[in-house]
Amino acid sequence: MDRLALFDVDNTLLDRQAAFEHWAADFLVANHIDPSQYGELSSIDNDGVTPRDVFFTQVKERFGIATSLDQLLDNYHQAYANYYPTPHETIRALRELRTKGWKLGVVTNGPASQLTKLDAAHLTNEFDVICVSEIVGVRKPDVRIFEDAARRCGVALLGWMVGDTPGTDIEGGWRAGLRTIWITRGRTWSETAYRPDALATSVPQAIAIILASSDESPGRTSSKARP
Ligand SMILES: [Mg+2]
Repeated sequence: MDRLALFDVDNTLLDRQAAFEHWAADFLVANHIDPSQYGELSSIDNDGVTPRDVFFTQVKERFGIATSLDQLLDNYHQAYANYYPTPHETIRALRELRTKGWKLGVVTNGPASQLTKLDAAHLTNEFDVICVSEIVGVRKPDVRIFEDAARRCGVALLGWMVGDTPGTDIEGGWRAGLRTIWITRGRTWSETAYRPDALATSVPQAIAIILASSDESPGRTSSKARP
């Protein structure tokens, strides 16, 4: 039986929060800004949701940085991927799943530079397909990005979606008919219209859940109707 496991990138496969903290610490030092201003930077970043041109426009204004916006963006894009260490435990777990016959895919919202991050962290070759929204042309939770992943893997859209953002990863996976695992990051689930099938604190833990349930039907078990 073909089985498909799809994964989000930021704060799922990769610890985007830690990478941002390390980058921000270096950025503050390089620009002679007191480290205590990290909170301001983090607030403008909004967990990576703020587009980078908007982020640097606001950072320039807030801290009175003279460097041009283009230069700040260039510096960022050149350096940022290096702040992602190789997630060895995650790679080990992904390989175990793949060895057992699963097709593995990445489904991420963001620019093409998501590929650079995956490369820097040595994750690219661990997947059968990598779907980046700005390349594919649709974003999670649009079901078409999950359909694209399944089609490019040559399997039916049956299996699991693992991610940390309720409105994109979990709602999107659920709408696509996948079972879902929410990476909690210390949070409590609060959505009532849909919910994940399982919670995990890491990708290795999520993969253990997938493997433990792999004797069951790969379809979604929830009785709740798809919207
Ligand atoms: Mg994420």
